Amino acid sequence: MSMRLLLLLPLSCLLWAADSPRIAATIYPLQQLTRLVVEPGQSVDLLIDAATGCPHDHALTTAERAAVERATVVIMNGEGLDAVITRLLTPAQVAINTSAAIPEADHLSETTDHADHEGHHHGANPHFFASPRQAARIVRLMGIQLGRHDPSRAVGYDRRAQEVADRLDRLADTMQATLAPLPRKQVILQHDSLAYLARDVGLTVVGVIQTEPGQDPSAAALGALVTTARAHRAVIILEPQFPSHFGTTLAREAGSPVVTIDPVASGPVEVPQDYYERTMRANAERLVTALRSP
Ligand SMILES: [Zn+2]
Repeated sequence: MSMRLLLLLPLSCLLWAADSPRIAATIYPLQQLTRLVVEPGQSVDLLIDAATGCPHDHALTTAERAAVERATVVIMNGEGLDAVITRLLTPAQVAINTSAAIPEADHLSETTDHADHEGHHHGANPHFFASPRQAARIVRLMGIQLGRHDPSRAVGYDRRAQEVADRLDRLADTMQATLAPLPRKQVILQHDSLAYLARDVGLTVVGVIQTEPGQDPSAAALGALVTTARAHRAVIILEPQFPSHFGTTLAREAGSPVVTIDPVASGPVEVPQDYYERTMRANAERLVTALRSP
């Protein structure tokens, strides 16, 4: 190897490193959505363990803190859900706040008491990601913002973001149209992660089982939900990320249909690139079956 080549090597490595942002997402659903926008083969790190689910009560591990420090571009929820991570970000890191994609007028207020570790309460429900309609907006924002911070790939980010967002909007349209004529319109949720999905497909949330993260509902609260479920002929919607016994008890007592819908708040590490879309299509099919039940 010539001296000249040796001298050039470190510089080219540096340039390559500067040219390739280390993209990371704070939470699993944002990682899955970001994977749809980046180049095939371009990695998206996840800053908390994939099995964590909503990090409402999460304390970061040492490894997770190190991953936060390594990231150069961080895709964040920005509505308090991932504050445990975002409060560690420095001005040298680019933060892409996906909640900015959702107009204020479309924010739902939260039914769950999402206090962070300082006991600070946030007003808006932060679970935008669980609705394909809102996910489409998030993806469009990612396409623009990633391109701004990684200009050499901007055209590709933008093109993929438009394609994915269009597919997600079509899925939301189909869900809305399919569910509209079905007899049941009211639902009781496991926790408020599915509130945007419910609203966006024309369903009304009449109750929430888990109003405090990590805290079981009282017998009185469960009793009240049985009355509500009967009065509204509500479908009970459970989530795979939570234990199901309260929901199944409620469904049995009220004689309500019960269905498990995955908000993609957590999931396996190794999944196909279109995992988010696949999961949402499966959710749509299960919802139709449950809302059709007499
Ligand atoms: Zn949550």
